[in-house]
Amino acid sequence: NTDTTSEPAAGDLRLVNVTKRFGDFTAVNDLTLTIPQGSFFALLGASGCGKTTTLRMVSGLEEPTGGRVLIGEDDITRLRPHKRPVNTVFQNYALFPHLTIADNIAFGLKRRGIKDVAKPVQEMLNLIELSHIGSRKPNQLSGGQQQRVALGRALINRPQVLLLDEPLGALDLKLRRQMQIELKRIQTEVGLTFVHVTHDQEEAMTMADTIAVMNHGRIEQLGSPTDLYENPRTTFVANFLGQSNLLPGRAGGVVGEHLQVVLEDGTRVLIPAERNRASGEDVIVGVRPEKMSIHASAEEVPSGRNVLTGGIVTDTSFVGVSTQYVVKAAVCDELGVFVQNDGAQIFRPGTPVVVSWDPSQGFGLDGRQDIDAG
Ligand code: ATP
Repeated sequence: NTDTTSEPAAGDLRLVNVTKRFGDFTAVNDLTLTIPQGSFFALLGASGCGKTTTLRMVSGLEEPTGGRVLIGEDDITRLRPHKRPVNTVFQNYALFPHLTIADNIAFGLKRRGIKDVAKPVQEMLNLIELSHIGSRKPNQLSGGQQQRVALGRALINRPQVLLLDEPLGALDLKLRRQMQIELKRIQTEVGLTFVHVTHDQEEAMTMADTIAVMNHGRIEQLGSPTDLYENPRTTFVANFLGQSNLLPGRAGGVVGEHLQVVLEDGTRVLIPAERNRASGEDVIVGVRPEKMSIHASAEEVPSGRNVLTGGIVTDTSFVGVSTQYVVKAAVCDELGVFVQNDGAQIFRPGTPVVVSWDPSQGFGLDGRQDIDAG
């Protein structure tokens, strides 16, 4: 939850009405957020939405124009960076090239005057699975290995909060996927709060317990990955996390557990009646492409499903486990429909089709939004 009304635990990271202006440009706009101790939290958003600026206010590299940053009840808003129980891992590793891996990791301990570093360094090398190459120099490591060292160096002093600013941005896709799993494993083992900044929705969804989707310096929606995916509250979130078919219409009446919506071409569909909407109110019906099915005719659609008739397949891509269709229908020029390839018929471009989905699988959005947001 974003609210600050519930009692914060001692180690929770809290931003309270935090604003950052550069001249008359507002990069972060009145952000209020509680990040529970020990959670893996992702700040997700497009370039320029204020993610890095938010992190920099937590680490102390940037001073807020207004608002407060706290850990538990400790106000750290004006504390110098090195006085904060916070450390950052950057995309460009920033390792000391002349020191060995082990010495890079030991650096933070030695700086604090700790003499007996062998044991904690060995434990850290084990955690990041580099114990066999502790005596190498950074230039003898791969990008993924260097990123592990950067992580080990940032974790050795056990900060209460570890900030990760696009830490996997320099890695190729395959290595990125491996490191996502690795990072999550390490976070679970050390049990510290990780705040991860990324513009990659898949990365955020793979790793984070909670994701805050940022847009124009504000949090657009906050929730678990499944929550955001299944119940986006804005068109921006619906488009930013995966793909959505968004169909504008007007609320009709409530039918049992469902709300009837009349789409622009007059087609009536049902969505879960998640809250009261006045009859006639503008509503956007959202459906994920993989929740839709494609059929040769309306007779083939099982009863109880929403149906869009008069479609024509305009594009077909076979992508291994699924086939992805683009369908031109009366309500929408480009419906995305993803179908599992379990022996189902493949429809070629030009084929007339009908599209259907189960009413429980759609979601309703406030109709006064830009449908292309995100
Ligand atoms: P990216 O993913 O590209 O790093 P971001 O979401 O992290 O983007 P920020 O770096 O936080 O975005 O920047 C938010 C906005 O504030 C941008 O429009 C940026 O140009 C602006 N900004 C950031 N730092 C400064 C600065 N020192 N002076 C002026 N404008 C700044």
